Amino acid sequence: MPDSLELIAADVNVCRLCKLCQGRARGVPGEGQLDAEVMFIGEGPGFHEDQQGRPFVGAAGQLLTEMLRVIGMRRDDVFITNVVRCRPPGNRDPLPDELQACDAYTQRQIAVLEPKLIVTLGRYSMARFIGQGSMRELHGRTREWNGITCLAMYHPAAILRTPTVEMRRLYEDDFLKIPVLLEAARKKRQAQLAASLAAQTVAASQLDQLKLF
Ligand code: URA
Repeated sequence: MPDSLELIAADVNVCRLCKLCQGRARGVPGEGQLDAEVMFIGEGPGFHEDQQGRPFVGAAGQLLTEMLRVIGMRRDDVFITNVVRCRPPGNRDPLPDELQACDAYTQRQIAVLEPKLIVTLGRYSMARFIGQGSMRELHGRTREWNGITCLAMYHPAAILRTPTVEMRRLYEDDFLKIPVLLEAARKKRQAQLAASLAAQTVAASQLDQLKLF
């Protein structure tokens, strides 16, 4: 059976790959449409997410939704998940073995969604897709990861902790990069499709010529 978002969610909900399963009320697989072009990857569920089984439903999620509105997008337009899918006790940082265990689900979701753009929210997600470094230096920067453009962003909770006009402006500026990067990624994917179609056509006509002999 081909993999699907539903299968992945079902696996997450009964997952016992790391000890975070012991304290979860619910797993938080992630949510969004299959045709989402942008995938947001945060850190891990907090209290409200654990209760509801949905990502980013608390205050940080409200800010994320507000920022999406700034760039003319809705939550429904994107896919939202986390690097760990069960709540770490007391909202502590995820540990290396927990990150490693849950990465299998991230990879499966990426394979199913084939996003054009991955936006990392916070340092754990950034470390996985962009690289190690300080958020102050790397936010707003991009890196190609397995052919997918990845954009580093502050976690919305970090912006809520420093509610200054400067931070808000900086966050909006980073979000405004999303439509620009998305358009570039769409064009790149179209060019790749056209190139592979052209290669197939050439191969087919060469085969036809061989058949003539
Ligand atoms: N913070 C996260 O990183 N993820 C959530 O789902 C909620 C808060």
